[in-house]
Amino acid sequence: MKEKAKQKEILRQIPSVDKILNWPELNEYLQTIEHTHLTSIIRYKIDDFRQNLITGKKLNLHHLKQSIIQEIGELINPYFCYAINAIGIVLHTGLGRAPFSQGIDDIVYIVSKGYSRLQIDEQGRRADRYKKINQLLQILTGAEAGFFVNNNAAATLLILNTIAKGKEVIVSRGQLIEIGGSFRIPEIMAQSGAIMREVGTTNRTHLRDYEGAINDETAALLRVHQSNYRISGFTKEVPLHELVELGKKYKIPVIDDLGSGALIDFSKYGLPKEPMVQESIETGADVVCFSGDKLIAGPQSGIIVGKKEYIEKMKKNPLTRALRCDKLTNAVLEATLQLLLMKEEILMKKHGVFNILLKPLVDIKTQAKKCAHMLHKYSTKMDISVKEAVSEIGGGSLSTEQLPTFVVALKPKTMKVDDLARSLRQYHIPIFGRVSEDTLLLDFRTVLKNEEKIIAEAFDEILKNK
Ligand SMILES: *Cc1c(COP(=O)(O)O)cnc(C)c1O
Repeated sequence: MKEKAKQKEILRQIPSVDKILNWPELNEYLQTIEHTHLTSIIRYKIDDFRQNLITGKKLNLHHLKQSIIQEIGELINPYFCYAINAIGIVLHTGLGRAPFSQGIDDIVYIVSKGYSRLQIDEQGRRADRYKKINQLLQILTGAEAGFFVNNNAAATLLILNTIAKGKEVIVSRGQLIEIGGSFRIPEIMAQSGAIMREVGTTNRTHLRDYEGAINDETAALLRVHQSNYRISGFTKEVPLHELVELGKKYKIPVIDDLGSGALIDFSKYGLPKEPMVQESIETGADVVCFSGDKLIAGPQSGIIVGKKEYIEKMKKNPLTRALRCDKLTNAVLEATLQLLLMKEEILMKKHGVFNILLKPLVDIKTQAKKCAHMLHKYSTKMDISVKEAVSEIGGGSLSTEQLPTFVVALKPKTMKVDDLARSLRQYHIPIFGRVSEDTLLLDFRTVLKNEEKIIAEAFDEILKNK
């Protein structure tokens, strides 16, 4: 009963919107934010507060004040911002997958300065916005033609819709994958209007399975890179060259969804072999698609390369208009593909992903030690050590593989490890690590050059009163 009376008293004391607008803490916002918007935030937070009180949460007016100030702050500050990946997953979707390559920030800036050239020629006539990227993709992959849409899911949808709407597409049961974030081959197939003909079993599919399923309604043979899982043991997949031969025999196009789509042979550098786009084209796949923001390190996009007749048909599909990318994506993709024309020793320094995958273990260790050294002054507040560990590639690329790395392991003594991890995520440059038992691990494979300094500064702020 006492609680109820207290609650009633607080409800009665909730200040009016006008009173709140006079809080000195809101003065700065009152000068800049449109009055109606400011009042609607306040109203909405008051309603929230009232609801929470009624449902029995123990709150006081100080909480209301805090929540209003925090809400306005969050609303006008960017959520999408530069952040530090100390998780150690190279292609982390939550952190924007691949980091862009060196020099891309300049491109983004230049395109954002004013109007930008997107699809207009020297005579002032409307031009083909895909022309330049088509040219780059031809040279890089050896394909007859290339273009791109919003992401690889969109690319798959568009390819199937263009080539196989209302017809059958044959695919192995071992390749009916789901990629994180609800991309599932059977669902994309259904949305495209194509009819899926599954063949083989989960672990083994033979050429004769494909051949046996071919009929007058067959419009394509689809191969999907398994990306984020491996079937091991008693297995069989039909290699692309056999599918291509079969396709030729029956005059049926072969579609190859590569997922991450490497343009560089990583196996040369001791990394596991990832299927390369050039190889698919050379083998004779009619249409090949892959993500722009996985191993390519470009913007979110789905790149399609292959035979000109299919690419031209796709460009004319009305879906293409719905799936097309904006000017920033065009500019960043162009610059990323231009960089990929360069010699590998240049790429090694500049390319967003190459850089991280091939980062020498000694450099990772040096960087981790540098960070640990800067944090040494906090050794009364946490145990600090540098340890060997493994990073993941992620993003459905070489993803069952693990890379050796070094981590700074931090075991706080004056606060909970989860609170420390959260404080780092809330820093003005958010820092993401991984918590294992009661230790925070900062993985230096994915921490970029000089970011250890930012990490140390974050600790200065977080630990100053702890
Ligand atoms: C990642 C992936 C996709 C989805 O690509 P998005 O660019 O995320 O849409 C599709 N197929 C395969 C095989 C993949 O690995």
